Amino acid sequence: MFGSLYVAIERWARSSTSRQGKLPDHIPLWYIRQLSRAKLVWMLRYIYHNSPAQRDIWHAAGLKLGDIRSADVLQHIPFTTAAELAEHPDSYICVAHDKLIHILTTSSAKGLKKTIYLTAGDFDHQVRTMGTHLRRFPEAGRVAAMFLVHDPTWSVGTVIRRGIAEAGMLGFLSGVHRPVQDHLDLIKEYRINRLITSPTHLSRLTFEAPAGLDLKGLGIRYIHLGTQPWTEEFRSRMEQTWGAKLIDGYGSNECVCAIASECLLQNNLHVSEVDFWMEIIDPATGRVLPDGQDGEVVITTLSRLGMPLVRYRTGDLSHLIPRKARCPCGLPLRKMGRVRGRIDDMLIIGAGHNLYPDEVDRAVFSIPGIIDYQLVVEKDTFKDVMLLTVEANGAQDNLRASLLKELLAVESINTPCNLSGNVVLAPIEIVAPGTLTRGRPKSIRIIDKRTGNSNQEAIL
Ligand SMILES: [Zn+2]
Repeated sequence: MFGSLYVAIERWARSSTSRQGKLPDHIPLWYIRQLSRAKLVWMLRYIYHNSPAQRDIWHAAGLKLGDIRSADVLQHIPFTTAAELAEHPDSYICVAHDKLIHILTTSSAKGLKKTIYLTAGDFDHQVRTMGTHLRRFPEAGRVAAMFLVHDPTWSVGTVIRRGIAEAGMLGFLSGVHRPVQDHLDLIKEYRINRLITSPTHLSRLTFEAPAGLDLKGLGIRYIHLGTQPWTEEFRSRMEQTWGAKLIDGYGSNECVCAIASECLLQNNLHVSEVDFWMEIIDPATGRVLPDGQDGEVVITTLSRLGMPLVRYRTGDLSHLIPRKARCPCGLPLRKMGRVRGRIDDMLIIGAGHNLYPDEVDRAVFSIPGIIDYQLVVEKDTFKDVMLLTVEANGAQDNLRASLLKELLAVESINTPCNLSGNVVLAPIEIVAPGTLTRGRPKSIRIIDKRTGNSNQEAIL
C-alpha cells in the first residue's frame, strides 16, 4: 500500500546482501522521506476513520478530514501524553478488540501504568524490524543472549527473542536477577558472541566477574545497549575490556522497540523512518524545534494498526541530525543524536543552573569501577543538597576524592557550589555491587525530592 520501496527494503532485509550491512545504491534518500510522508498521511486518515475518540479530539482542535492531505498537518494535531495514554488506552484503539492479541504493560515510578495492545500483524512487523536490525551487523555469528527483564508478560522481551530467531540466530533470555556467574557460564557454554543488555547490567558483568577472567577471551563481537543513556567514556572502556563493539539503540515501551540504532560507524543513530515519524519539540512550549537543537522526542507510529500513537511525548531528550549525504554505511535513513536522558531528570539547582543527566553520567562514569549511581537532591532551608551514592567494585583508594573532582569539573555543579554557595555536595556514599542495581536492568539515577520526581521510565 506504500509503494514498492517498502517491499524492496523488506526483500533486501531478507537477502544475503543485507548481511553485508548495505542497502542497494538505487534507493535514494528522498524516496525514503517521501515514503515516510505518505505513510504519515495514510496513518492519520486511518486513525481519523477508525478511532472515534481521536477524531473527537482532532475536531475539537479544528481539524477536519479534508485537512489531512500532507505531513504538514501534523503540527496542528494535539500531543499524546503518557498520562492520557495511561488513563484512556482504549481511545487509541483502531481495530475490533478481538484482533488485539498481544499486550504490553509498562509502569513508571510515578505510578503511571500504560497498556499497549498489538494485533498479530503489529507484533510480526516488530519482530521483522528487530530481525532486520540485528542482521545489519556482519559476521555476527548465530548466537545471541539477553540479560533483560525475564518476565513472561514482558512483550518487548518476546519481540527481541523472536527477532533474534528471525535474524537466523540462536537466542537466550536470561534475567538480570540471576547471579553474574550464571551469565558468564552461559556465554562460555554456548559460545555466545553477541549481548543485548543494559549499561547497568553490563557494568555488573564487567566488574563482578572473577578477578583474572579475560573477558576479551569470551569472544563477544557486539554488545547492543539500550534502556538508559551511557557515555562515550563508558563505550571506550567497555570496548577495550570486552574486545567488542558497543551499539547504541533507542526504543520506548510505548513504541515497543527499535526506533533508532547506531550502525557500525557508531556515529549517531539511524531512525527507522519507515516506521516512526520523529519530531523534536521544546518541552515547555510544544514548538517544533529545528534539526540539531536538543528537545523532547515526539513519536508518531507509522506501521502499527491496532493502537497507533500520534505525537507521543516520550520524555526523552535528544535532537535530529540535519539531513546531509547518505551515511557511509549505506543505510538511507536519517539520524538522531544519542539520547541525553529524560526531560524529567533535568535538574535546576541553586539559582537556576541547568544540570543535564548526561553531565552527571560523564562525571561519575569517568571513574573506572563505578557500576551505577543515584543522585538525590533535597532542599535544606535555603540550599539545595546533592547526595551522591555510587555502586563500586570493592574499596578503591581515593574514590571519593576522584568523584568529587570530576563532579566539580562540571560547570553547572561547580558554580553554585563554589561561587554562589547555594548548593552543597554531601559526603559521597559508596555501596557494594548490586546494592542499587541487583535484579533490575536499570537503576533510578536521579531523584529530586524537592519536586517528588524520580523517573525510571525510559529507553529500551
Ligand atoms: Zn550508518
